[in-house]
Amino acid sequence: MDADILIIGAGISGSVLAERYANLDKKVLILEKRNHIGGNCYDFIDENGILISKYGAHLFHTNDEEVWDYVNRFAIWYPWEHKVIAKVDGQLVPIPINIATVNKLFNLSISNEEEMKQWLEDNRINYENPKNGEEAVLNKVGKILYEKMFKHYTKKQWNKYPEELAASVLNRIPVRHDFDDRYFSDKYQALPVGGYTKLFENLLKHPNITVHLNTDYFDVKDSLGNFEKIFYSGPIDRFFDFKYSASEKLEYRSINFVPETIDKEFYQENSVVNYPGQEVDFTRIVEYKHFGNQKSKKTTIVKEYTTDEGEPYYPVLNDRNLKIYERYKQESVNHPNIHFVGRLANYKYFNMDEAFKNALAVFKSVATYQSELAKI
Ligand SMILES: Cc1cc2nc3c(=O)[nH]c(=O)nc-3n(C[C@H](O)[C@H](O)[C@H](O)COP(=O)(O)OP(=O)(O)OC[C@H]3O[C@@H](n4cnc5c(N)ncnc54)[C@H](O)[C@@H]3O)c2cc1C
Repeated sequence: MDADILIIGAGISGSVLAERYANLDKKVLILEKRNHIGGNCYDFIDENGILISKYGAHLFHTNDEEVWDYVNRFAIWYPWEHKVIAKVDGQLVPIPINIATVNKLFNLSISNEEEMKQWLEDNRINYENPKNGEEAVLNKVGKILYEKMFKHYTKKQWNKYPEELAASVLNRIPVRHDFDDRYFSDKYQALPVGGYTKLFENLLKHPNITVHLNTDYFDVKDSLGNFEKIFYSGPIDRFFDFKYSASEKLEYRSINFVPETIDKEFYQENSVVNYPGQEVDFTRIVEYKHFGNQKSKKTTIVKEYTTDEGEPYYPVLNDRNLKIYERYKQESVNHPNIHFVGRLANYKYFNMDEAFKNALAVFKSVATYQSELAKI
């Protein structure tokens, strides 16, 4: 097919760029190797009539006005403040850690910010400059919470104990001094009515956009014609045929999603229950019908097991991997007509709003039709 713009990947990055260029009167071809659009945000109605996400629960949250305005053009959003609970010692406690978490775990009756700060002060172990993730957590919350909530969860998530990870990875864990049990604190927290796949259908419904599913770019690239511009949103190491990875592979963590039908109305009391302990191998159970208060006779739960093998989901951000990534990034300079966009091509963990922001920014910096830009 003749097109001006070639886009590899129909996730957030590819779909936003397609929508933007289509509205500049450019003909856009998207190649997507999976059998669906939406990238990792893809959701569908399962056999129990429940809207579930194929690649893990996706909660939208942002403080960015431009992104919020943009996504509101393609979906109606309903407010959804996500909450997570964790099963610890057989009890369900809210996370991030807040006053209610500590009260429930230790049978206390802390009632205000001062008392919570004092409790943390009495329990934390002081490290001026934490050298690793373990010291970072001990410095924040102390030994008991470290053992119960972080040590084994981190091992399950990253296949490394906190002491094997950089302090920066765990320094960011939120600890609240009040009763706020919301998982995120952004200004906008919402879910799209009807799901994310509908949003992508709306993004891509312009007549200038053609999407070829089940098409891996690397299988067809030699038979493609010429394009004004190419945008690539797949893994950067794959693009360069893993040339720097023969001995040093760029690492990603993946997840095995294992769905189960349960023959009762509800399985658990919340959409997401984390399992930070060693008693089970999975990290969490997601029960999707809680999102949007869906009704069904049976329920679907999905257990998540983090693994090294499988689809690349999370870049493993350590010095070693970042060095390898830098070599690929340098190499990309030799391809001025190809733009690397999104999570896997930048080897960064982008939340959805950051992926929207990145794609909009790439479009603004790459589009050379400045006079046209003003029109859309
Ligand atoms: C388990 C999980 C849970 C998440 N939860 C949240 C959340 O709650 N909130 C939040 O804000 N963010 C969440 N995210 C992040 C969110 O999924 C990303 O921000 C978003 O998917 C990034 O979009 P993208 O277009 O960059 O990448 P992707 O969604 O990965 O899209 C890239 C697309 O390119 C395609 N592709 C790759 N290589 C090729 C090729 N060779 N040929 C053709 N097509 C190709 C892929 O199949 C894919 O469809 C989560 C991510 C994961 C993995």
